Amino acid sequence: MGTDPERAAAPRIVMLHPAAPTKPAEGAPCNGCGLCCAAAPCPLGMFASRRRHGRCAALTWDESGARHRCGVVVDPGRWLPWLPRPWARHLARRWIAAGSGCDSDLIAG
Ligand code: SF4
Ligand code: SF4
Repeated sequence: MGTDPERAAAPRIVMLHPAAPTKPAEGAPCNGCGLCCAAAPCPLGMFASRRRHGRCAALTWDESGARHRCGVVVDPGRWLPWLPRPWARHLARRWIAAGSGCDSDLIAG
């Protein structure tokens, strides 16, 4: 999950799960609010969902964790089917810098 300049271009409405946590400050641990991925796909999301704009097709809701998750990490076989799953999950986590802080400067309002 991350930031694209286009994501911060203009005010607009994005749909998030009603139980999603509030977006934390930039640099704070990612809490799966989903705002960045609902606004626009990251480079991996563009590849996985075959579009450059709008909500990433791979954004998923984790009911038990009450947070959004990257579908490419959760189910790499669906989005990167030609790669062995452990490789795909590892690459996806590296591409999206999973485990690092929130890198989105989007403002939820
Ligand atoms: S990177 Fe930030 S905006 Fe994106 S899901 Fe994580 S907390 Fe939300
Ligand atoms: S590929 Fe994953 S991290 Fe990237 S925009 Fe889609 S759901 Fe978010």
